[in-house]
Amino acid sequence: MNYTGVREVEVVVVGAGQAGLAAAFHLRRVGYEPDRDFVVLDHSPRPGGAWQFRWPTLTYDKVHGMHALPGMGLTGADPRRPSSEVIGGYFDDYERTFGLRVHRPVSVTAVREEGGLPPWKKPVVARAGSVGALTESVGALEGERRLLVETSEGDYAARALINATGTWDRPFWPRIPGQEVFGGRQLHSAQYRGPEAFRAARVVVVGGGTSAVQQLLEIAPVAAATTWVTRRPPVFREGPFGEEQGRAAVALVEERVRQGLPPRSVVSVTGLPMTEAIRRGRESGVLDRLPLFERLTPTGAVWGDGRTVEADVILYATGFRPALDHLAPLRLREPGGGIRMEGTRTLRDARVHLVGYGPSASTIGANRAGRAAAVSIRGMLTEDSQPAYEETELAGSLAS
Ligand SMILES: Cc1cc2nc3c(=O)[nH]c(=O)nc-3n(C[C@H](O)[C@H](O)[C@H](O)COP(=O)(O)OP(=O)(O)OC[C@H]3O[C@@H](n4cnc5c(N)ncnc54)[C@H](O)[C@@H]3O)c2cc1C
Repeated sequence: MNYTGVREVEVVVVGAGQAGLAAAFHLRRVGYEPDRDFVVLDHSPRPGGAWQFRWPTLTYDKVHGMHALPGMGLTGADPRRPSSEVIGGYFDDYERTFGLRVHRPVSVTAVREEGGLPPWKKPVVARAGSVGALTESVGALEGERRLLVETSEGDYAARALINATGTWDRPFWPRIPGQEVFGGRQLHSAQYRGPEAFRAARVVVVGGGTSAVQQLLEIAPVAAATTWVTRRPPVFREGPFGEEQGRAAVALVEERVRQGLPPRSVVSVTGLPMTEAIRRGRESGVLDRLPLFERLTPTGAVWGDGRTVEADVILYATGFRPALDHLAPLRLREPGGGIRMEGTRTLRDARVHLVGYGPSASTIGANRAGRAAAVSIRGMLTEDSQPAYEETELAGSLAS
């Protein structure tokens, strides 16, 4: 779809992963219609959010704690199938069942204040359809200032924005001296497609998260040698990870966000779960960890104490950062580099909600944040009290 002029909607949802779909579900629940009152835009080619890009050897049984989207369970999945297929298929069914009409592939390139437009881009507003009762009392909202959402299918003028763009698009590469002279291959875990590419190679895996450990354990049996390096000593977590631990982990991330600091990764606050595979990896020595090396050379890595390791490949499993570049014109960031929020709403712009960010960067967190954002936006746009409802009730009323 391409539009001339600017299309006016109540809400734009950017991203159709867990967080964006949960938000879209709840927007419907509070009375908004897809393609009339709100649009969901996603730049990936298929349903599944970032899951569609995850490596084929990440089978569904290796995914821990994946929470189903609101209103529809994920049942009967073959645990040996790649999670990209299982979850991609599930999201596809979900979008159809609830008629969420995700526009893809559509990239959101920038979100800015409508008034901040250069004169040649002043909007010629075309309403998509009848907007109905929901919009009747919105006149008071922020003096009718709208957000201009620039996309590859044209521009939207929105009263509110739910940003659910995850982190997959921004793999984090640490800067390490000597990267430019290293003669072997350097890749990020986002580019990992399975262990075969590492057969008979000497591999250094950098990073202390779940991806690092899973990929290292897959590579070790086929590689000539592996070395694991992490900046901080990894913390292995014994015992179950229950609700209480989950709440404590979320509280830690929330505290950073409250202080205007960039959120930490989940593993940095939860530790690595001690699975059977990890136990075996520790016993065999594959998970003996070294501190981060000082620099790379043409043939390997060198540590401060003179230790060297020859390497053919450096695999950076060093995580991701929130994909928020398109929000830069709104200047949401604090001097500390983070974005302060109240619930899902950003403190610097009440029309902008971040879901799947910081404390809600997990499948369960994304579900809750999606609901909170939809309810809060509905309240803001209509000045209504928050509607109470049950997810099961919605599933029954929306599924066709
Ligand atoms: C390897 C791995 C395993 C994980 N396993 C688990 C697990 O077992 N349990 C768990 O709870 N969590 C897990 N997580 C975290 C989990 O993936 C997330 O919490 C959740 O799925 C992220 O959902 P999301 O909707 O926030 O982001 P995503 O799934 O990344 O979706 C974001 C969407 O936004 C789109 N997008 C981005 N930028 C733009 C733009 N500018 N314009 C348009 N569209 C855009 C992308 O195309 C994408 O479809 C894992 C993460 C990784 C990396």
